[in-house]
Amino acid sequence: MHNDFEVSLLIPLYNEQETFPTLISRLKSVLDSFKVKTEVVLINDGSKDATPQLMEELALADKRFQCVFLSRNHGHQYALSAGMFHCRATKAVMVLDGDLQDPPELVNEFYNLIQQGNDVVYAIRKKRKEGVIKRLLYWTYYRIMRNISSINIPLDSGDFCMMSRRVLDHINAMPERNRYIRGMRSWVGFKQVGYEYERSEREAGESKYSFKMLWRLAYSGIFNFSEFPIKFITRLGLITVIFAIIYLGDTVYKKIFEPEVMIPGFTMTVFLITLFCGVQLLSLGVIGEYVLRIYDQVKQRPIFVTDKIIKDKQSSNC
Ligand code: UDP
Ligand code: MG
Repeated sequence: MHNDFEVSLLIPLYNEQETFPTLISRLKSVLDSFKVKTEVVLINDGSKDATPQLMEELALADKRFQCVFLSRNHGHQYALSAGMFHCRATKAVMVLDGDLQDPPELVNEFYNLIQQGNDVVYAIRKKRKEGVIKRLLYWTYYRIMRNISSINIPLDSGDFCMMSRRVLDHINAMPERNRYIRGMRSWVGFKQVGYEYERSEREAGESKYSFKMLWRLAYSGIFNFSEFPIKFITRLGLITVIFAIIYLGDTVYKKIFEPEVMIPGFTMTVFLITLFCGVQLLSLGVIGEYVLRIYDQVKQRPIFVTDKIIKDKQSSNC
């Protein structure tokens, strides 16, 4: 084998020039003190700032860094997937964010747990240092997911984790286009263990996850790992039919036995039409989400496109 890295650290970067110097200096001290042969795989997810240039200089000077450049901004989950495909670790990979919210210094603790026979060490956020609304949304989302998901996705854990090589190989072999990595990781199974940590604030710069992107990620989690929405609309349909029958029975009864009672007309009709139109559109939307995923899957496009790779201080175009 042309390399003998035991561990890879995978870090997707999108416009992270502000955090880059601190990130690299912390990574270098981790690499110096960690006694296991480790590479860092940085993935440039189509950054428009100085991130790619900084990465290039670094990878050409230090062969512990492998840099993968994607052809455009594909999104965090896809950048991560690229890192998972290109990394060379033989034992384990650690996945972390580039803004230092996930401390790379934990590599030691995580690797010890992997060596003790665990296949996944996932980080659980003890305390988040984000705004109240974002925290509340995350909290609610994870609890909804826990209740409706067909697999057991741990509460308050994101992508920050370490996985054994075999878990990585299983995820890489999954042909699904729509990637929700923390879900795929849970799906694989084996022995998975949580590790509590305090999530710090972003080192510098702004969050690269827009509200729209977070929403899309949340959707992926729900529609990729739960049959609840589609089953729910069947139940909703059933409830509405029962409701309509009861209402019809009540109206007929009043017409026959209480002809003096005025049956509310126009307002009720408009209300019912609006309500059921809404229910139908909502149901179509839910079905549409699943159809979209099938459409995405049958197109069979690659998950990401790589522009070039710099490894072992050498650059090669893809
Ligand atoms: N990121 C990426 N592509 C994107 C958006 C984000 O590679 O389209 C990277 C980003 O550079 C960071 C990580 O994903 O290293 C997590 O993003 P961020 O910290 O902005 O997300 P948040 O912590 O706010 O959820
Ligand atoms: Mg962050």
